[in-house]
Amino acid sequence: MHSEHIILDGKKLAIQLQNILAKEIARLPASPTLAVVVIGDNPASAIYVRNKEKAAQKVGIKCIVLKFAEDITQQELEIQIKQLNLSNEINGIIIQQPVPQHLDILKLLTLIHPQKDVDGFSPLNLGLLTMGDTQAIKAATPKGIMRLLQETGISLSGKNAIVIGRSNIVGKPMAQMLLQADCTVTIAHSKTQNLYLLVKQADIVVAACGVPYLVKADWIKNGAIVIDVGINKINGKLCGDVDFEAVKNKVSYITPVPGGVGPMTVTMLLQNTYEAFIRQNCKQ
Ligand code: NDP
Repeated sequence: MHSEHIILDGKKLAIQLQNILAKEIARLPASPTLAVVVIGDNPASAIYVRNKEKAAQKVGIKCIVLKFAEDITQQELEIQIKQLNLSNEINGIIIQQPVPQHLDILKLLTLIHPQKDVDGFSPLNLGLLTMGDTQAIKAATPKGIMRLLQETGISLSGKNAIVIGRSNIVGKPMAQMLLQADCTVTIAHSKTQNLYLLVKQADIVVAACGVPYLVKADWIKNGAIVIDVGINKINGKLCGDVDFEAVKNKVSYITPVPGGVGPMTVTMLLQNTYEAFIRQNCKQ
């Protein structure tokens, strides 16, 4: 039993960072502009896009939502993305996922100009991250998690970290960022055996698998830092991938769901858009 635990308040930190960002953006000669490509009518996506729009507006980023029909062809969409690449008005381009099955998302992501890929999902930016290049635009969710970890003031060097989940948008870039911070990183996934034994060794646990309450209290090493990325719904109520109420008594730091990683993700997307604007307009 760990006597004290601290809640890593992502909502509060996100507001602080957004206030700083708003001041920096107010000093720019023009508003950074983010294009959000939305295909079809996924209700969950609609909520995420609305949140991004609201947050963008708050900090002074112009957000243009481009809605396309569910049955748009790959070729038509590629033309649209090429046009956004060419537009001087657009600083960042993101494609809201998931996209309909007939579309080749990897090809679409590859097409986004790397300097405008503010989600950091394109192969070039993910590749640069893997090679330790500091110029890579970093995926928002793991970037926000690194910022939350920074809040603990604890040195990450040499720590055992486990990332549960290996998606291209969360798990893999998360593992790379922890590796870059000199953690010893284990990546777990649905075929991992004896997951609890691996989690038990970890000083830092990042749960990003989308399985409600998967991570249990008796899996956790005393005093570990636990980051819960999961967004799940049970009986209409949001919950994470960690059994928060039980796990919190064993940890040093833990993120809640909601109010942990989620607000930081949106903030890092805005930060990436601002940085893209600076790189595109203020050539050093
Ligand atoms: P994906 O579904 O793309 O990936 C899930 C990963 O978890 C896969 O690698 C899968 O393994 C692994 N996995 C599934 N079940 C288990 C299990 N029982 N044990 C171990 N690993 C398992 O999801 P995302 O990465 O996109 O998202 C993960 C979660 O994070 C979701 O709940 C999502 O809603 C949330 N999310 C939250 C964000 C935020 O800002 N808070 C942002 C993005 C996502 P395999 O590869 O073998 O299939």
